[in-house]
Amino acid sequence: MFESGVSLLEQSQTNVELSELRAILPIADHWDWQFAGECANMPSGLFFHPEAERGERRRNREIFAKAICADCSVVDKCRSFALVAKEPYGIWGGLSEDERKEILKSKE
Ligand code: SF4
Repeated sequence: MFESGVSLLEQSQTNVELSELRAILPIADHWDWQFAGECANMPSGLFFHPEAERGERRRNREIFAKAICADCSVVDKCRSFALVAKEPYGIWGGLSEDERKEILKSKE
């Protein structure tokens, strides 16, 4: 499973540099990685919390989603995208929204 903190952001730069990603975001062809994701045919509810979900139920769902991400071939691209796009919700690239906020805050 993934560790939290700056090392994750550094890991996310292994395949796609953040500056490169910013430059390519508007180009639809570069979004193809999303179709290769392990989650492509899974219910979005596994990765995005339903309203008012809290506590153990939320923790368990996030653990399950992160386990799927851990086996995903596009995890680096997904994580980089979510950090650059500042995705506000869901599990992306094995990171929760709170973990992404923490990483981005540490980079300010
Ligand atoms: S890393 Fe996770 S959220 Fe991203 S595409 Fe893969 S399975 Fe989906």
